Amino acid sequence: MAVTDAAAPPGAEDLPPLLLAGRAEAVRAALEGGVAVAAGPDAPDRGGPGEDGDGPQPCDALVITNLANGRWVCGFSGSAMIVVVAPDDLLVITDGRYATQAPAELAAAGVDGRVVIADRGDEQKEAAAAAVSGLGRLALEADDVSWSRYRRFAREWFPGAELLPATGVIERLRRRKSPEEAARMAAAAAAADDALAEVLPRLAERPTEGEVAAELDYLMRRRGSSGSAFDTIVAAGENSALPHARPGRRRIEPGDLVVIDFGAIIDGYRSDMTRTVCVGEPRPPGGRVYEVVRASQQAGVEAVAGGVPCADVDAVCREVINDAGWGEAFLHSTGHGVGLDIHEAPSLSSRSDEVLAAGEVVTVEPGIYLAGEGGVRIEDTVVVTDDGCRRLTCSPKTLVVG
Ligand code: ZN
Ligand code: ZN
Repeated sequence: MAVTDAAAPPGAEDLPPLLLAGRAEAVRAALEGGVAVAAGPDAPDRGGPGEDGDGPQPCDALVITNLANGRWVCGFSGSAMIVVVAPDDLLVITDGRYATQAPAELAAAGVDGRVVIADRGDEQKEAAAAAVSGLGRLALEADDVSWSRYRRFAREWFPGAELLPATGVIERLRRRKSPEEAARMAAAAAAADDALAEVLPRLAERPTEGEVAAELDYLMRRRGSSGSAFDTIVAAGENSALPHARPGRRRIEPGDLVVIDFGAIIDGYRSDMTRTVCVGEPRPPGGRVYEVVRASQQAGVEAVAGGVPCADVDAVCREVINDAGWGEAFLHSTGHGVGLDIHEAPSLSSRSDEVLAAGEVVTVEPGIYLAGEGGVRIEDTVVVTDDGCRRLTCSPKTLVVG
């Protein structure tokens, strides 16, 4: 498959505007076409995904409580919101902290919606109930609503409506990124590339894992990132065998494999990249492990294209590692979607039955972890194209540094 590297992306201030006017309409079309519902306790006996066991269920409105999903629909980036997508209404309920920000962000995104500022729960309830009054069937986000909140919604907020535990309504729509979204992710990836390039020469000074992680976080912020895409991982020596190690006080010594996994956030959109490096030559079998993971990762990236099953990319990566005899040491799936969240659909795993589509942004990140010795992971974030992919994370893959 054709793989190209991203051209130098613009700085955050030069990004094209992210206009979201059509998104509420896309949600309405999805509701009309029918939403998947979470399986109830009796679903296995009935053999279907929903209460009725008969597949997608049409709905009149969606009550969005997941913050990233709400942001995706209307552009509001606050930390408290309920967004109601009804047939003729897009309602954003938030509190007084966001009285200025929420309307401004909707306007900047070109979104025609109503913002209701309500600090008290009963005011929020009244606004939401009025927006869906007369509608029969409301979809709630089953993967986001807690049990207690569901009971409140059912008894107090929407007592007259039928509530459906919908899954993945917005998440499916979020999979394909627009060029403007991909530009933000490219800018995030570039901030991370720059930060790593500045930090690597200093590994020879024997910093601790925690110092390197803090330095990366700081440098990404200096380059416009609003935060770390997730808790930065810097894992040296035996710690590199732990896929999700926390950076600590261990010093990076010559010969250690050092797994560095981190990302930036630009305008809400995240990047995700792992590089494994070593100051000087690694202790055996580090060099060989690196070569195998490098070959596996490259094969995986080259397998990515629109129309390719996610499980196939996983199989391609796994085969290289299996052939080298380390199949048992590849402890996780091959990759995941990235966007407003660090882990999104689709999943690049052996269990996935999904197919990649152009515009989706996914990671390819095989690894080998040898307990007590060390590990190697290499990860890129790529934009799927019709005939391959475009790499957003462009740091060199060079094991030996310093
Ligand atoms: Zn990562
Ligand atoms: Zn990842």
